[in-house]
Amino acid sequence: MTNPQSELERLQAEAAQRAMIDRELVARFAPEDAELRGANDRAKAAGMPEIQISPLQGKLLQVLAAACGARKILEIGALAGYSGAWLARALPADGKLITLEVSEKHAEVARATFAAAGVADRVEVRVGPALETLPPLTSEAPFDLIFIDADKGNYPAYLDWAVKLSRPGTIIVADNVIRGGRAFQTPPPDENAAGAAAYNEKLLANPRLISVAFPMDDDGTDGFAISVVR
Ligand code: SAM
Repeated sequence: MTNPQSELERLQAEAAQRAMIDRELVARFAPEDAELRGANDRAKAAGMPEIQISPLQGKLLQVLAAACGARKILEIGALAGYSGAWLARALPADGKLITLEVSEKHAEVARATFAAAGVADRVEVRVGPALETLPPLTSEAPFDLIFIDADKGNYPAYLDWAVKLSRPGTIIVADNVIRGGRAFQTPPPDENAAGAAAYNEKLLANPRLISVAFPMDDDGTDGFAISVVR
């Protein structure tokens, strides 16, 4: 029989080890500069939720942008521009990031982040519900990389749009597809988990997409799904 005290100590030691590994990886592979940290400080000061991606996720988006030679990137869900700043910095000087955001306040904070990060010239924030701002993008497609990180209930519809706005080789990334395992429960226990579950099901059923998902947030309970359009 396990001793609850030693079991607790083992769990604490594991959590401390995970935190140490995350800290060391960030320091080596994804150090944040003052401009990236500024995005989160600005969001906090404006009373916005701290629900941005992690530094390692930001760096992974840059690696993926490089892998597909991204010149045109689409993001759904800007918040304070943290992920957008990582993405825009992966673009060439004449590249373009279009980021869709429903909240005028979030859009304003994101614009300030892009200006501070020196990428305002290659970023456009479009305000409105994404299901209304996506259709006009047909004339600007295809996008090389599409990052989905907004309201989870609409994830399946966002995937349809992402595929429509893609070309062979486009990389589609969606955040929060695991939700602490709730996306794998039947039925999913809440609306966000249901959106993530439907997204995963839809991309796995699409023969044009080759996809993988894995945990990669700070505590290893949520993460990205990454798909490549064939
Ligand atoms: N990608 C951001 C980052 O990592 O820095 C975080 C995005 S945050 C998780 C989700 C954002 O999506 C919020 O700013 C929210 O206002 C926006 N959002 C929610 N519903 C939306 C919708 N229907 N259309 C566009 N944006 C939406």
